[in-house]
Amino acid sequence: MKLHAFLVTIYLLIKSEDRKVSNESTPIIEFRNVGLSYDDNSVLKNIDFELEAGKFYTLLGPSGSGKTTILNLISGQLTVTYGDILFEGQVINHVPVEKRHMNTVFQDYGLFPNMNVFENVAFGPRIKGKSKKEIKAKVTEMLALVKLGEYADREITELSGGQRQRVAIARALANDPEVLLLDEPLSALDYKLRKEMQYELREIQQRLGITFVFVTHDQEEALAMSDWIFVMNDGVIQQNGSPEDIYDEPINHFVADFIGESNILDGIMTADYLVHFTGKDFENVDAGMRPNERVEVVLRPEDLDLTTVENGKLVVTIDDQSFRGDYYEITAIDDDGNEWQVQATNKSTVGERVGLTFDPEDIHIMRFNESENDFDARLESYEDEDDNA
Ligand code: ADP
Ligand code: MG
Repeated sequence: MKLHAFLVTIYLLIKSEDRKVSNESTPIIEFRNVGLSYDDNSVLKNIDFELEAGKFYTLLGPSGSGKTTILNLISGQLTVTYGDILFEGQVINHVPVEKRHMNTVFQDYGLFPNMNVFENVAFGPRIKGKSKKEIKAKVTEMLALVKLGEYADREITELSGGQRQRVAIARALANDPEVLLLDEPLSALDYKLRKEMQYELREIQQRLGITFVFVTHDQEEALAMSDWIFVMNDGVIQQNGSPEDIYDEPINHFVADFIGESNILDGIMTADYLVHFTGKDFENVDAGMRPNERVEVVLRPEDLDLTTVENGKLVVTIDDQSFRGDYYEITAIDDDGNEWQVQATNKSTVGERVGLTFDPEDIHIMRFNESENDFDARLESYEDEDDNA
């Protein structure tokens, strides 16, 4: 009997080893229908996602959209109101912060002002009881990684904002986290430094191969840095995808508006490859919608060109113009009163009437959030119009 129990134990151990090996595709972090409320105020709703190990993820959204709340749920600072959070396939809803293999970098650095650079970075390994030699090696490696090799003896007060943020990153990474959480870490830095740090952070992530979950409200930053972006608004993930997906194929008005500048117009898909807006039909490349489905039409300012009135698909009047270095940003008004943003290579004159042109593939179609009932009622109203005609 005892031997049998022993053999069963061995068998289970081998099996569990097997599972580990064959489960390389298990997400490192998973949210299953997660929600969070403060009293009756729900700030995160039905959040579902899977994060693959070793990727650079970004949560992008305006202030108050729930980005920090998601980071705090991942790190264990907050507990879900409903749903499950998993780490490598195990539910961790109630695992305390210190037992999770994660560290957070904050916008305001959160360094220990009474310790020098070396001591700040050494903090984590020292708490873990590492030897002096290990600590020295780790701190040296991390300071080199963030290009502060010469700064070990400096006081925190002697550092610039950018250097402080580098120390904060080194301190977080010195704990060998499996996931690094970054909450708007670059938002306090000036434009040039910010660009530089974007590039370096991305490089550090690729070099170490650990999972980054990065938070920003800056769409340009998100597009430049991420493997995968979650666009958030009002506690809901509006869309997730690669930077190219999110930019080229926004799924709703919020995303189209938040990611880059867009011209967004009401339209109707008259038929496959034919969309009606500003009182005219335009050839496009979308098909498979319901006949007369109500849509929103997105045209990016950089996809529009100005031409002569005769050659234009629309005629517009130049309303405003500003020079942006490599292009002129133009506001123009069409004869229906719609405002158009255009990036033009040539200078125009305010008040001038010009043609506006674009290619069929530059027209991006988004489904309008219309209920079945509203849709049916609208179709019926068209039929009535036809009857009356
Ligand atoms: P973000 O990081 O995207 O700016 P947050 O995740 O910090 O947004 O906040 C999401 C929402 O939760 C906001 O409306 C905020 O006011 C609310 N919130 C955050 N913390 C609390 C709290 N302790 N009590 C009540 N509401 C909170
Ligand atoms: Mg926040």
